[in-house]
Amino acid sequence: MDCQAKDNVMNIGGEQDIVIVGGGICGLATALALHRKGIRSMVLERSESLRAAGVGIIMQPNGWRALDHLGVAPKLRQTCIEIPSGLFIAAEKGKFRESELPLGKGELRCLKRRELMKALAEALPAESVHLGCRVVSIVTDPLTFDPVLQLHDGTLIKAKIVIGCDGVNSIISKFVGVNSAKLFSRCAARGFTYYEHGHPFHDKFRLHDSGDVGLGQLPVTDKLAYWFLTRSLTSQDMSDSKKDPAYIKEVSVEALKGFPEKMVEMVKATDPNALYLTELWYRTPWDIARAKFRKGTVVVAGDAMHAMCPFISQGGGASLEDAVVLARCLSEKLKQAGNQSGDRRKMLIEEALGLYVKERRMRVFWLSLQTYLIGLTMDNTSKMKKALGIAGLILVFGDQKGHTDYDCGHL
Ligand SMILES: Cc1cc2nc3c(=O)[nH]c(=O)nc-3n(C[C@H](O)[C@H](O)[C@H](O)COP(=O)(O)OP(=O)(O)OC[C@H]3O[C@@H](n4cnc5c(N)ncnc54)[C@H](O)[C@@H]3O)c2cc1C
Repeated sequence: MDCQAKDNVMNIGGEQDIVIVGGGICGLATALALHRKGIRSMVLERSESLRAAGVGIIMQPNGWRALDHLGVAPKLRQTCIEIPSGLFIAAEKGKFRESELPLGKGELRCLKRRELMKALAEALPAESVHLGCRVVSIVTDPLTFDPVLQLHDGTLIKAKIVIGCDGVNSIISKFVGVNSAKLFSRCAARGFTYYEHGHPFHDKFRLHDSGDVGLGQLPVTDKLAYWFLTRSLTSQDMSDSKKDPAYIKEVSVEALKGFPEKMVEMVKATDPNALYLTELWYRTPWDIARAKFRKGTVVVAGDAMHAMCPFISQGGGASLEDAVVLARCLSEKLKQAGNQSGDRRKMLIEEALGLYVKERRMRVFWLSLQTYLIGLTMDNTSKMKKALGIAGLILVFGDQKGHTDYDCGHL
């Protein structure tokens, strides 16, 4: 992506205060939240540039609240239109029937991921993000009990605090003892389609469901539309083909047989450079309910904590909330620590990280439970699982959009 690489001028080896592993949405947002509280941190990102894989991201009212607390929402609002209403279009006996798609109360927009990453990165001090720094291991120093990170080139970094924002296959979450994320039986293709003379979708979120295939479409601007398609995962989707835009387009168009022509044309006209196919990973709700998420002064956030399938479009929003809560908890306890060093300071840091985990656990548990139950309803191999998913959703999540009515609080 075009986000400028930050100068890697600082010597990053040796001792550091706070190291954030991973420069995705969560890592950048966490560094920014800490910066807003006057706390310095260092972000280590393994890629040579800040990546914005997945082109678009749906941001719901809770996500916008977090972006407001981070101070980047006004800039981002200028990049995308508000989406006030939605249509649910379900296939029934060969015909598509329309009904209202509930969107929850408040602001919903579809952001370009690139704009989100850029806004977060640009609000950081220039020396914060270090690209091309892959963390290959983390151990505890046997004398001081501080975490020690090793980079791919052998550089050792001893940190006071490590925050693992390194995504689904996180090295840091393994270190703190979280079970690995699980592979879901479906995959998602996503893309941007540009319409020179404006798209015909107005300001509506459209969600088509044919049982086997789900197709969502949202306007980003008057001329740019974002779409996502979910379908069963095949072995070819997990091979190198998933990086080939021609393959992604071909199988997506194939999956859309019988869908309205306007939607098929949208997928056919997708910019090949803005096409992605991804497997879907998730952590089970019971893993989230019982995982520790913290070991000493090492903690996890974002997908490293709560990877979830995108059925309620909350992984990114929840990652922004993590960032705000984590920075708030840390800054309160660091203030109490004042100039003290040694064991007392370490104890207060551990308390702060413990409070953060406590505050986030139930929030992300409910998000992951709702997502998990929706996943069960998509299971066409077992009527029992499908029924369990439907019953669970009716009994526990009467208000399907209740998850968007959440404020993580001020920094
Ligand atoms: C198909 C799909 C659609 C989605 N749609 C939405 C949506 O509409 N709305 C929404 O809110 N959420 C959505 N999500 C979820 C959202 O994308 C994620 O929750 C969010 O990107 C998580 O951000 P993160 O920073 O935690 O992880 P990531 O974005 O995965 O970032 C992790 C970063 O860490 C780096 N890294 C990994 N390992 C190391 C290492 N060892 N050393 C250094 N760096 C490392 C990676 O390179 C990467 O940059 C969707 C997800 C998928 C799969």
